[in-house]
Amino acid sequence: MDYKQLNDEYYNVLRSGEVPILSCKNCGYSFTNLRTTCPKCSSDKLNVRGAKEGVVYSYTIIERGLPFTAVLLLVDINGVRVKANYLGDPKKLRIGLKVRSKYVKQELIESIVFEPAE
Ligand SMILES: [Zn+2]
Repeated sequence: MDYKQLNDEYYNVLRSGEVPILSCKNCGYSFTNLRTTCPKCSSDKLNVRGAKEGVVYSYTIIERGLPFTAVLLLVDINGVRVKANYLGDPKKLRIGLKVRSKYVKQELIESIVFEPAE
């Protein structure tokens, strides 16, 4: 897939509020960073699909050095790990919490954040 087509598909999924997951048609490896080749086998035969829900695998809360409290998640989506911010009640946050993705745009930065799904 050429870069423009891959980029368009990736951002269409992201803007729909889902996490873009790239899968390699050659070896089956899945990952979330936008890149033109598979990090395992270097194939450029990639697919893009979206996923909406995952489970908190790990998290960290940053309360120092920023003008706000930042909560960073590592979310597991069927074995694919995604790093993203958490928007939700920190008291609800725990390992294993089901979370749902949401699209956010701040100035020129487009990203996915997660909210509790339960
Ligand atoms: Zn591959």
